[in-house]
Amino acid sequence: MAQTKTGQCMCGAVRFTATNVPDTFGVCHCDMCRRWTGSALFGVSVAQSDLTWEGEAHIKTLQSSDWAERAWCQRCGTSLYYHVTVDGPMSAKVEIPLGVFDDPNGFTLNREIFIDQKPDSYDLAGDHERLTKAEVMAKFGVQL
Ligand SMILES: [Zn+2]
Ligand SMILES: [Zn+2]
Repeated sequence: MAQTKTGQCMCGAVRFTATNVPDTFGVCHCDMCRRWTGSALFGVSVAQSDLTWEGEAHIKTLQSSDWAERAWCQRCGTSLYYHVTVDGPMSAKVEIPLGVFDDPNGFTLNREIFIDQKPDSYDLAGDHERLTKAEVMAKFGVQL
């Protein structure tokens, strides 16, 4: 069930309140998410219009590819969101890392993408959708 949740970066300079937060999350194993997060991006999709930020002056963004930007706290380096910037249905939402929510409990994994780039060091359990890079490109038209 969609709900209202709050979150913050590690140092607390940036806080947010999100409404209509889904109870599912996706995982991206692509090379960029792996380096950006140090592991994989566990992302919760939230509409930009459902987000209210505090301490926005501390948010830095990088256009990390032709199609997306990534944001972090410039004080502590916490990854804050991934955002598809090319026009289309994806651009209305951002992916908020699961770990920055004050209460990261209660979410269910519903999809892993770039499964063909996942390190063989671990597997995520469960009977959810798993898509390769090629399948992601075919399904969404952009590299997420
Ligand atoms: Zn911070
Ligand atoms: Zn990724």
